[in-house]
Amino acid sequence: METRIFGTSEEDIEQAAEIIKNGGLVAFPTETVYGLGADALNPEAVGKVYAAKGRPSDNPMIVHISSKDDLTKLTCGITDDMKLLMDAFWPGPLTMVVPARAIVPRVTTGGLDTVAVRMPSDPVAAALIEKSGVPIAAPSANLSGRPSPTSARHVMDDLDGRIDAIIEGDNCKVGIESTVVDMTGEIPSILRPGIITKSQLSKALGKNVEIDPALTQKPEMVKTGGLLETSSDFRPKSPGMKYKHYAPKAEMIIYRGERQKVAAAMAEEKLRRAEQGQKVEIIMYDDNDPEKAARDFFANLRACDKAGADVILATALKEDGVGFSVMNRMFKSAGYNIVDV
Ligand code: AMP
Ligand code: MG
Repeated sequence: METRIFGTSEEDIEQAAEIIKNGGLVAFPTETVYGLGADALNPEAVGKVYAAKGRPSDNPMIVHISSKDDLTKLTCGITDDMKLLMDAFWPGPLTMVVPARAIVPRVTTGGLDTVAVRMPSDPVAAALIEKSGVPIAAPSANLSGRPSPTSARHVMDDLDGRIDAIIEGDNCKVGIESTVVDMTGEIPSILRPGIITKSQLSKALGKNVEIDPALTQKPEMVKTGGLLETSSDFRPKSPGMKYKHYAPKAEMIIYRGERQKVAAAMAEEKLRRAEQGQKVEIIMYDDNDPEKAARDFFANLRACDKAGADVILATALKEDGVGFSVMNRMFKSAGYNIVDV
């Protein structure tokens, strides 16, 4: 199929919305990463998203809405905690997992009876959802397993010819996917860290939120049916956490420890690899600006692949606040290949 390319004018967004209404697939910019959208209430359309991405069918989608009121169509019983988080962070890069109404197809929720919902702040995303008149299921617009796309170019590199259309907008401002918080238990629990941090959530709620234990343990990876997956005793609440993710084509090694020692170890490894004729790329971030690391990380991985890197050597960031969220991605990209110095 030929992938149509739209700009961000009102007419273009209207045409893209028509495609969504008719059960087609449209990639579009959001403030986090580019999403691959389909009518969330149309099982056939959502099925096409899994197929286009090559995404395992038990990995649920985030459903995007354009007004806070739309949450009541997807779930029953909005709790005080949900209201507090909506008021503090919507529209914005926060996803809430809530009980799903029957109207939400189980193909959208990966078979779960909960649904993940977000109201994006990006004006193009908001206009597309509004004009479509339906909630839009949208995982990241990359081939499953590849780094998430933060520019229209990244989307075309992965999905050109596999989807109906793309809206070409600006590069994504946040650069990592939304914070996902499970609101179905007694205490809200972070399933995926993002730019909105644990301390911001705790402050908005006036109580401590938890971090899902799956986020702080290193899972054992096994190969099942061609997919690299975590072993079956690893059962995160967020099914997406089971799969190999965000992987560059190159081998990737993370160096962790005191900065100077890290720099020395990386320089030594770089030399060793270069002597073997390998192309080495270095990724290094400033601990004082984890937001920039978040913005650049996926684009850096894709740039390394484009440059034909054999190996990527990356420095670990301090694991707190947004640094924790970037490291969550970096560990997966490297398949937990870490050198402690
Ligand atoms: P992506 O759409 O690729 O950014 O991934 C969405 C993430 O949200 C995945 O890690 C999913 O596992 C997670 N997710 C979506 N829906 C649910 C849900 N109902 N319960 C738990 N996690 C969810
Ligand atoms: Mg994704």
